[in-house]
Amino acid sequence: MSVVGPRLQPTIFEQSRPGRGVARVAHPPKDALARIPADQLRSAPPGLPELSEPDLVRHYVNLSQLNYAVDAGFYPLGSCTMKWNPKINEWAARLPGFAGLHPMAPDETAQGTLQLLWELEQWLAEISGMRAVTLQPAAGAHGELAGILMVRAYHLARGDADRTEVLVPDSAHGTNPATAAMAGYTTVNIPSRPDGAVDIDAFRAALGPRTAAIMITNPSTLGLFESRIGDLIEAVHAAGALAYMDGANLNAILGRFKPGEAGFDVMHINTHKTFSTPHGGGGPGAGPVGVGERLVPFLPSPRVLREPDGTFRLERTGERPTSIGRLRTFVGSTGVLVRAYAYLCSHGAAGLAEVSDDAVLAANYLKHRLAESGAYDIPFARHCMHEFIASAATLRRATGVRTLDVAKRLLDKGFHAPTVYFPLTVEEGMLIEPTETESIETLDAFADALIEIAREAHDHPELVTEAPHGAPVRRLDEAGAARQPDLRARPTAPIDTPCPD
Ligand SMILES: *Cc1c(COP(=O)(O)O)cnc(C)c1O
Repeated sequence: MSVVGPRLQPTIFEQSRPGRGVARVAHPPKDALARIPADQLRSAPPGLPELSEPDLVRHYVNLSQLNYAVDAGFYPLGSCTMKWNPKINEWAARLPGFAGLHPMAPDETAQGTLQLLWELEQWLAEISGMRAVTLQPAAGAHGELAGILMVRAYHLARGDADRTEVLVPDSAHGTNPATAAMAGYTTVNIPSRPDGAVDIDAFRAALGPRTAAIMITNPSTLGLFESRIGDLIEAVHAAGALAYMDGANLNAILGRFKPGEAGFDVMHINTHKTFSTPHGGGGPGAGPVGVGERLVPFLPSPRVLREPDGTFRLERTGERPTSIGRLRTFVGSTGVLVRAYAYLCSHGAAGLAEVSDDAVLAANYLKHRLAESGAYDIPFARHCMHEFIASAATLRRATGVRTLDVAKRLLDKGFHAPTVYFPLTVEEGMLIEPTETESIETLDAFADALIEIAREAHDHPELVTEAPHGAPVRRLDEAGAARQPDLRARPTAPIDTPCPD
């Protein structure tokens, strides 16, 4: 199978022809122009493209077909939990009472949304074992920032101003050290052990009166459960520091492990990973943060409060002076939070435990299929959680084919690539996360494709190193695209869009 889809096409500006535009005001008042103050009249036409309706619709439909999506195929992007997004979530998020609610609506007319948000907070507190939850952060990274700002506020409120360091393992997601730095801390990088586990003893040795917090991902970004975490958290607390858990991998432990009960003081939840929601390309997302008793006073404002009479209201500005304040407009990404609520309703407690069981089963199945084939290295042999690491290090030494080439060749075979070269600690690594929503046939087809690519690497390496062959574009300058994004089309010739007469 190969990806033979729509081709790249000229931009909408290049397709523009004068006079073909459909955006006309049907019956403008005769004196329309005269009513506009002279200093607000355009001196030149706005430069909008002009297309007929069919050309316009086809342009955007064809662009949308260039996208790879969970609705189109398997998306094994490790750490991102690209699970199936149940369509009932979309129905719920589009209910006019939620979707059409004005963000400034008074509490009395927003009771349904406020109740949903309040209940979602309670459920997330139950799932995470935390004391209270804020729904405000816009994504996981934003949740981390909220969490570490609360840690800082906690230490400062105790007059403990000398804590300047946050300890982070070398396998951490880049957002962890970035968060620590944004909150004004110095990151201390702690190397992992050869078996991939967090080095608890190295962490202990680095703890001290300067430590504000540790940030740990459990299960780790290598897909391994850190079973000695309890010892570490004890040592963290003994040193007067707090323990932050990056909860991006919650999909592996839903209903089985509650970070709050294990002693973590604060964690974020990526609702757009664990509880579905289409995501990628920067949004939309929601990164609720759960906190233990000690951090409750510092939660962002406004919180959603339930009054003794059962009605709901938003906290008023200044009502809780210990709060770190507002982090986002209004109460958060409400549409995403409605999706998370719908997802939780449709699964229930037993269903959530089944989600994590099946996610772990799928990952172990795929890992065993690859291990058995011998096509790739499987650096960490022990039982994985919902994702695992494979590596093309040996394949590269034998054939010259790198992980990046394997990822590109997967596109020709109709699959999205897994996460590659993350975490940075694994040579030629691929982080593969199948999620619980995929069938065994899909898992087998993906394993077959990877194994076939390894065979191609031996027999016809150029087939792999020159891939993709069937995608609309070949190899891109990804670093250049990220560092110098050029997202704006500049019309080559001025476009004549006459104002309505
Ligand atoms: C996705 C992820 C994050 C960041 O979350 P966003 O919602 O993308 O901001 C942080 N840590 C880990 C381990 C992740 O996988």
